Amino acid sequence: MSFSTLGLSQSLLKAIKETGYTKPTPIQAQAIPLIIQKRDVLAAAQTGTGKTAGFTLPLLERLSQSKPNMNKYQIRALVLTPTRELAAQVHESVKTYGKHLPYRSAVIYGGVGINPQLATIRKGVDIVIATPGRLLDIAGKKGIDFSKLECLILDEADRMLDMGFIHDIKRLIKMMPSERQTLLFSATFSPEIKKLASGLLKEPAVVEVARENSTGEQISQVVHYVDKHRKRELLTQLIKTKKWEQVLVFTRTKHGANRLSKQLEESGIKAAAIHGNKSQGARTKALASFKAKEIRVLVATDIAARGLDIDQLPHVVNFELPNVPEDYVHRIGRTGRAGNVGEAVSLVCIDELDLLANIEKLIKKEIKKVDIPAFAPDPNIKAEPIQKGRSQKPKRDQHKSGSRSNRSEKKEKSESKEGRRGNSRNRKSNKNNRGNRS
Ligand code: AMP
Repeated sequence: MSFSTLGLSQSLLKAIKETGYTKPTPIQAQAIPLIIQKRDVLAAAQTGTGKTAGFTLPLLERLSQSKPNMNKYQIRALVLTPTRELAAQVHESVKTYGKHLPYRSAVIYGGVGINPQLATIRKGVDIVIATPGRLLDIAGKKGIDFSKLECLILDEADRMLDMGFIHDIKRLIKMMPSERQTLLFSATFSPEIKKLASGLLKEPAVVEVARENSTGEQISQVVHYVDKHRKRELLTQLIKTKKWEQVLVFTRTKHGANRLSKQLEESGIKAAAIHGNKSQGARTKALASFKAKEIRVLVATDIAARGLDIDQLPHVVNFELPNVPEDYVHRIGRTGRAGNVGEAVSLVCIDELDLLANIEKLIKKEIKKVDIPAFAPDPNIKAEPIQKGRSQKPKRDQHKSGSRSNRSEKKEKSESKEGRRGNSRNRKSNKNNRGNRS
């Protein structure tokens, strides 16, 4: 199978060649021809499968088949993503693959000034990549016109639902023509996703490349049992003795991420933390330093890590297991990407045995346990309940009161509290949860 058989024009094939890709990934081979034919597509594909190119390439191809819009505020294609980082990455892909085509694109997300974004759209763009909250703000200011939208793409739709963006998405869709192509990409086909898809997609082609909630075969997974208070020591030892040069480490809380990053620095390991309380600039800088291998360890919370595209990341460490088992799959999806082998190591203390059992149940396999004798858990230590964060009841009335900007500010502030994700994954449409993601 080669890219040249998929129906892509010379300009795109040239750009693909320049990226160094030699053959399409399975999701690309399946999705690209369908999208060029303007079919609606429901695709189950996790990050790391090449899904971004899987929709960006045919999107660019199909835009070249129709006339550009005359009205400057009108856009032709919209990609909605759950996080700023993912929006920025998709935008990079659009620029990379579209570099020999005349289309203009813009990325729109919260946490930065709105005026430059309004100004960019005013100049006329074909493709917008956006997080739902900020886009709705811009639409509210009549800063964008969806009436001639040809193609809507929902990327990581499952995560957008988890993060409570469903109302924003529905409001945006009401502004769009019903005659349009819609593509929905999601890591899993949960009942919620199926419901969303049935309302949005017309006779969709279904493309599925990974088993539901399965973890990639190219990722080796290991659990080391260790007491909580010795995790940092073990992590430092693993990094040093195994000479890990680029490690993404997950903690459950922002405070935990900051503390661990500081402690690693004190042990002589260059580290930075990335989480929702950090400014967009700080997050971008930390990610760039990590990619450039100027820092060895990036300590992240689940939200911040979502959408990070770091090529060939060899090691992911779960310093703490996630409260939500699906997050384990997302976390370790950072490694072993696009055919590369990766290693996911989980440091598990006695308090986390239930979390581990839930993860193994979800991925339908037992994770290999490897004892490290020097760190054998103390049998006298008893399990303690894990801090679960506050309960998360949806506060739908938030949508009715106040301007969106005010709400965003409140959200940013309240996000500074710890442990907000808790166990109630499905109830995330409250204001606090949505703040630092848009
Ligand atoms: P994604 O699933 O879109 O996040 O892509 C995961 C990674 O795979 C990115 O780093 C892409 O640059 C890379 N990638 C995408 N398509 C291909 C391909 N056909 N061959 C090799 N790598 C690819």
